[in-house]
Order: sequence, then C-alpha cells, then structure tokens
Amino acid sequence: MFYRRLGKSGLQVSALSFGSWVTFGDQIGNSVAEACMQKAYEAGINFFDNAESYAGGRSEEIMGSILDKFAWPRDTYVLSSKVFWGGKKPNQEGLSRKHVIEACHAALKRLRVEYLDLYFCHRPDPNTPIEETVRAMDTLVQQGKILYWGTSEWSAAEIMEAYAIARECYLTPPTMEQPQYNMLVRRKVEEEFKRLYESIGLGTTIWSPLASGFLTGKYNQGIPDGSRLSMPAYDFLVKRFERMRERGVIEVLDTIQSIACKLGTTMPQLAIAWCLKNRNVSTVILGASHLEQLEENLKSLDAVESLDDEIMGEIDIALSRFVELES
Ligand code: NDP
Repeated sequence: MFYRRLGKSGLQVSALSFGSWVTFGDQIGNSVAEACMQKAYEAGINFFDNAESYAGGRSEEIMGSILDKFAWPRDTYVLSSKVFWGGKKPNQEGLSRKHVIEACHAALKRLRVEYLDLYFCHRPDPNTPIEETVRAMDTLVQQGKILYWGTSEWSAAEIMEAYAIARECYLTPPTMEQPQYNMLVRRKVEEEFKRLYESIGLGTTIWSPLASGFLTGKYNQGIPDGSRLSMPAYDFLVKRFERMRERGVIEVLDTIQSIACKLGTTMPQLAIAWCLKNRNVSTVILGASHLEQLEENLKSLDAVESLDDEIMGEIDIALSRFVELES
C-alpha cells in the first residue's frame, strides 16, 4: 500500500480505501463485512467510509461492531460518516445546524467511536445557507467530534463559497470533496475542480471507481444474479447503464478489456489503477460484496506502474468515444 496526503492537509490516507454503500447491512452478511474489513486493514487500507444513510444506519452499526471487535488502535485508521439523509421528517434531512450536529452524535454512537476523522456533507442543501453548515461543522471541529470536514457531490462554486465563508469568519474550511470518479465519469474531477487542488488544497476521496461494476464488464451480456444491478432498489443503475449502452459504452468497455488483457491484468484492476494515476485523487474508495473481489481489486496497486504514457493515451482514445452522462 502507499499513502497520499488528503489534499494539502497533513492527514495520510491509503491510496485504496474501503466503503460500505449497498453492501453492509443490506447485500452482504456481517461475516463477509468483517472478513473484508480485516483483509483491507491487513493490506494497509487505513480509511473506512460510511454514511448515516447507508442501510438506514445499519451500515454504521455493523462497521462499529467490527471496529469494536478488532480493537485496532484508533490512531491507525481514518473513519468517516456523511450527513444529509437521516430520515423523512423535517430536520432529519439536509444540512441545517440541527441535523448536522444531531447526525454526528448518532453516527458516533453507531460507529462506537469518540470522534470521526472525516465528516462529509453528502449533498448540497438548497434549503440551508452554506454559512449555517460551515458554522455547524466548525462547532463539531472545536468540540473534537470531527477532525476534518468536507463535501460530496458539491459544485466547485459551492465548495469555494464554503471556503470563502470559513476564511472570512475564521472558521474551519472544508478539506476534501467526495466525487464520483472513474473512466466513465471524469468531468468534475478533471475539469471543474482543477483550480481547487492548488488554490485551496482540496483533497478527493473518490467513489465508484468501477462505476458500480460497469467497469468490470459483468453487465455487458445482461445482469448476473446477485449483482448490484439485480437488486430492486438499484433499478436506477440499470437505467443508467441502458443510457450508457445507447451511447456505445459496450464498445468502449470491450476496448478497455483488451487493454487489460494486453497488460496481463484484469479489467477492474486496470480501472482502479487508472484512477490512481490521477495525482489529484487522494484515495480511491473500493466497494466489494465478496472477499475475492476485494482481494482482486487490491492487486490494482501492482498495475499502476504498467500504465505508462502510451497506455494512458490508448485508454484516453478509447474513452473519448464515450460522451459522459450529465449526472
Ligand atoms: P465500485 O464502483 O467499485 O463498485 C463496487 C461493486 O462492484 C461491488 O460491490 C461489486 O458489486 C462490484 N465489484 C467490485 N469488484 C469487483 C470485481 N473485482 N469483479 C466483479 N465485480 C466487482 O464502488 P462503489 O459504488 O461500491 O463505491 C465505493 C464506495 O464509495 C462506497 O462503498 C461508499 O463508501 C462510497 N460512495 C460514496 C457516494 C457518495 O455519494 N459520496 C456514492 C457511492 C459510493 P456486486 O458484486 O454487487 O456486483
């Protein structure tokens, strides 16, 4: 494993990290979750990602019980949660001061820790002034309940607004953003945020490096039983893949597959290594529903070196044939 700074902060995060969306508390049993966490930690992964909304809080409870059982020294791992979707009632959702503070308390309880290393605003909230959220995050930092705060799927303009408010009012500015980034979704990380890496030292903890599995090639011939797209709640991903198919994604995936074969690696390993080639990516968050997937994906570290300029150019040409979806 190798480690990168989270943007310009002093925090070191493992190049690969591990998250629990879809899987913990829903798709997989607790023993698989435990085996994956153990494997990840033993491989040098030090960042574990979670959110209040994952499996309605069960994902955090399961991760909390695993952390409790393994009792790894608290200074050897970085733990996150995200606030936004806490429930359906007023004030259980969004980024008001009330929900930000209460959701943090609830996450600490479920994860069984005294503080979160990273705390994300899971989406922008049009119903709360950004200043209110910045002030709430700063309160949590001052109280020692969170160490760094950041955003997820915010625009560059929204992040800059939060940063400017924090600087103007002597509050803690956001450190990191959690955007989707993979071979099929590039625009935000590569273009929109370009100036923020230098100007404010933004770190990125990128999600869905395999585009929910599209970049494994497993959906090219249909939807395998037990896969993410076979789960009724993720029908929106089936529709997304259909829209991509209409834009010729299968041809692109076939080319990526053949490049992986040429390099003697697998398609998921190539797709993950490709994300790591971007120096503005602080960490790539992996997801896995089977231990074997995690084991395979960890080997993407070995593939990074083989991605020289020529191969990256070949990949770029293949990807340029695909027009990215808007969202
Ligand atoms: P990926 O795009 O890597 O998808 C992971 C899924 O792909 C697995 O659960 C598995 O699904 C399949 N898969 C993984 N490896 C392989 C393999 N080697 N061969 C075949 N299939 C494989 O990442 P996620 O979408 O899971 O996102 C990773 C993390 O990012 C999340 O856990 C979460 O922490 C974070 N995230 C954050 C979001 C945000 O809004 N901030 C949004 C989404 C994710 P299956 O076996 O079911 O087919």
